[in-house]
Amino acid sequence: MPAHGFDPLRLPDLPEPDERRIAIRISLQAERVLRRGHPWLYDQAITSQSHEGKPGDLAVIFDHQRKFLAIGLYDPHASIRVRILQHKKPALINQAWYRDRLAAAMELRRDLLESWADNNTTGFRLVHGENDGLPGLVIDRYADSLVMKVYTPAWIPHLQTFCTVLINLIPVERLVLRLSRAVSERPQDLYGLEDGEILYGNILQGPVLFKENGLVFEADLLQGQKTGFFFDQRENRARVEKLTGGKTVLNVFAYTGGFSVYAARGGAHKIVSVDSSLPALQVAQRNFEHNQQVPGIARAEHKIIAADAFTVLETMRENGDNFDLLVIDPPSFAQKKNQIQQAIAAYERLTQLGIKLLSPGGVLVQASCSSRVDADTFFNTVHQAAIHAGRPLLEIERSEHALDHPISFKEGAYLKCLFAVAP
Ligand code: SAH
Repeated sequence: MPAHGFDPLRLPDLPEPDERRIAIRISLQAERVLRRGHPWLYDQAITSQSHEGKPGDLAVIFDHQRKFLAIGLYDPHASIRVRILQHKKPALINQAWYRDRLAAAMELRRDLLESWADNNTTGFRLVHGENDGLPGLVIDRYADSLVMKVYTPAWIPHLQTFCTVLINLIPVERLVLRLSRAVSERPQDLYGLEDGEILYGNILQGPVLFKENGLVFEADLLQGQKTGFFFDQRENRARVEKLTGGKTVLNVFAYTGGFSVYAARGGAHKIVSVDSSLPALQVAQRNFEHNQQVPGIARAEHKIIAADAFTVLETMRENGDNFDLLVIDPPSFAQKKNQIQQAIAAYERLTQLGIKLLSPGGVLVQASCSSRVDADTFFNTVHQAAIHAGRPLLEIERSEHALDHPISFKEGAYLKCLFAVAP
């Protein structure tokens, strides 16, 4: 069905999900997990199923008494075999169902939507996957554009219905499709859809501008990391701004300079942004240019270094450089279970390298976005590393998720950030 009063969606001919739902029975252990509301059913937990379906077919999961447990999106090629759309009560997954889920996600973000109306923050996360009841789907808003990132091909047969509801509910200029790497690697399930495709509205000529807490940022929605920007750090950036008056700041893993621009508005006079991606750092420089009307930003000296962060930190130490505040916000080092120890060792190393560059009384801001390393382990790791370096830390604050990145299950908790003074 085309969206009323809107241009049609630009979608290829997509298959409909099969009318026949797949009936699945599972182990008792998995039953207990699903009863607690967990959104994933792994392949190994399946004890029997009615028939072999295709990606995007709906699967109905029954308990040991053959009573309904949950309904979800099926993917025969993934170890997360079913991503649960609804627990406990059967449901028709149709326009009304999608509308309810999107409305609930918007309700949760009412404060941000008000800030959007005030033109203060026009970029934030609208749908945070499993945590908003739309598993494997992320939607970020950038001013008049929506970016929908799909993490499972099981969504593809549902896009016509889902996107119609989305565009009707949230009128925007365009809707951009982004595909996770795992999804991009399955062209046979994508029916010609590609990463960066515009599904609705005007073609994009270049980056878009949006606002975060009154600051202007640009993002490349078609090729930028994630959906173009890391909205999850918005509140941590605002915390950093409060700590930077008159200081020198080193922002490691800076991406497009979010923390750097906030630090400048907060009064930092010298800021160095380090990232391995030169294109990202060039955007960081432009983000300073976009905010020249802010006195602190016009005054600040901003330097970029495109290189490996570990090497840069070592070189700076050899050169005797020092800073009053350090932000260390690395990528997730533990994509797989067997990388957890490696990730912890990398956090430790970053603390040790970083702390040596901090002037007495300097502030360390260190974050982790790996859900496999839990908050306690991460905070302990940073503290222990600081003790080993002979600079035990005094905590200012620990922060976790912002409002637009809710947490509904254990694996959904990924972001944690320590703010501490190194005496
Ligand atoms: N702090 C950023 C987000 C950081 S995302 C923000 O607020 O927007 C992680 C960044 O680390 C990415 O930009 C990636 O390019 C960079 N990166 C990954 N490995 C790196 C390495 N070894 N050295 C330097 N940068 C690296």
